[in-house]
Amino acid sequence: MQLGHLAAEAELVKAFLRNRHPVELGEAEIADYKARIAALLKAQDAVLVAHYYTSPLVQALAEETGGFVSDSLQMARFGHDHAATTLVVAGVRFMGETAKILTPAKRVLMPTLEATCSLDVGCPPDLFAAFCDEHPDRTVVVYANTSAAVKARSHWVVTSSIALDVVEHLHEQGKKVLWAPDKYLGSWVQKQTGADMLLWDGSCIVHEEFKARGIEDLKRVYPDAAVLVHPESPAPVIDLADAVGSTTQIIDAARRLPNPEFIVATDQGIFYQLRKQVPDKTFIIAPTAGEGATCRSCSHCPWMAMNDLQALHDCLLHGSNEIHVAPELCARALLPLQRMLDFSRERKRAVTGNA
Ligand code: SF4
Repeated sequence: MQLGHLAAEAELVKAFLRNRHPVELGEAEIADYKARIAALLKAQDAVLVAHYYTSPLVQALAEETGGFVSDSLQMARFGHDHAATTLVVAGVRFMGETAKILTPAKRVLMPTLEATCSLDVGCPPDLFAAFCDEHPDRTVVVYANTSAAVKARSHWVVTSSIALDVVEHLHEQGKKVLWAPDKYLGSWVQKQTGADMLLWDGSCIVHEEFKARGIEDLKRVYPDAAVLVHPESPAPVIDLADAVGSTTQIIDAARRLPNPEFIVATDQGIFYQLRKQVPDKTFIIAPTAGEGATCRSCSHCPWMAMNDLQALHDCLLHGSNEIHVAPELCARALLPLQRMLDFSRERKRAVTGNA
């Protein structure tokens, strides 16, 4: 379900970013912010947990201060297991909410509460609840990119790294699935598993812009390149992929595949980790057309871009942008989230043979 106000929302974000940073930070200012943030993290018993789509500066700072950079599933796990009493989540709002749901006793801060996600915005809880009510025979599986209220209405929460395994498991049990909100990820999972899935009509404004024809053209220029695609991309783009997967799985594929070059269809924030973790290979961003796009071909999430050093510093200094989720909602949303974490742990044990 695409809502008309998405484009307006993205414009607001861009205006926010323009006003916030009329001038780029210089090297000295960056070093100063980083030092002050590191000191604040230490003084407040806080740890920085950042998503792969945040800026290289924020990712580097998380790594330098004993924090963590990863996909949303691993971020949630790390925040839950870490001893710090405050989690600073650099990402988009559902990631902060997920951290709070998993660890309600901890203080969860975010650089901004305005960083949302088109998948979350496009799946309002009341409309989603009505959709579920119309299909009581289906197991409700929602992507992590949703509000706490939508998670609370589901049976399972999944991330892109585990969606396939969970739906395959449900399909083996003969269950029919109601899937939300990403229609492209849902279609891909449906195609891979053969499960009976009813899909909500949502999409990611960044991944939706990758174009198959542009990738085919680029393949002619780089014939030895493999194509790595996040499954939030449209089916014709996924069909060209040598590997499809979450951000972590994309990095793993870049390491594993023998190709010297890779065309990558996901948010450009991941290039920092790709170049760092696989330095001997070349990475090229997959083309977008930008026609009618809210993100205008930048291949970068406008909401992720709101996590800058200044906002990070200010939230720690003032204790602002704290995430609150009502305890009753927290308890209901925790059930499907915990189901995913338990399932993931069991799967890992089965694969590695570890107890
Ligand atoms: S990249 Fe797409 S899915 Fe990820 S937070 Fe941004 S809008 Fe949402």
